[in-house]
Amino acid sequence: MSESDEKGRSAGGDSAAGAADEHADEQVKVLDSSFFFLDIPIAGTKFAVPPSVVAEMKDLRSKSKLDAMLGDGRLFVSEASPATRKRVIAASKKSGDYGVISDTDCDVVALALEMGGIVVTDDFALSNTAQTLGLTVIPVQMRKAKKRQWKYRCTGCLKLCDAPGICDVCGSEIIRIK
Ligand SMILES: [Zn+2]
Repeated sequence: MSESDEKGRSAGGDSAAGAADEHADEQVKVLDSSFFFLDIPIAGTKFAVPPSVVAEMKDLRSKSKLDAMLGDGRLFVSEASPATRKRVIAASKKSGDYGVISDTDCDVVALALEMGGIVVTDDFALSNTAQTLGLTVIPVQMRKAKKRQWKYRCTGCLKLCDAPGICDVCGSEIIRIK
């Protein structure tokens, strides 16, 4: 009954074959393409992607990550109905993300909506649209670095920048935006 026993077991690295039953109530996590491009592990046993995410896995590394997850049965490919997609597009218009989110982003949100799942993404517009629909969003990178991916904008020329400071174009102050 001690916490250290629990930790000891999970630290053992033994892939317990009977573990699936423990996750019967686990919510499906719908992954966006960026998850496969980053080398960051994720906890869970139920993952889904739309076919459009699979189509974006063109390089060997991201493709083999996807194939490995498909192979061990943690990941499956599914597509949301056109009606659900329309709901997502309507939501993106409401949240101001229409035109910013890609077709693949739309598919990810629609799939999560149909499955009652969680969206896993670091994309701001995708996340925003998903949250407008009441979905839970978790970032890909949070586990590793607690740092948030902030965006910065020059107060003078409105150029988007990677860090705060002084704009190298117009010399105005760069501030953090949402
Ligand atoms: Zn500037």
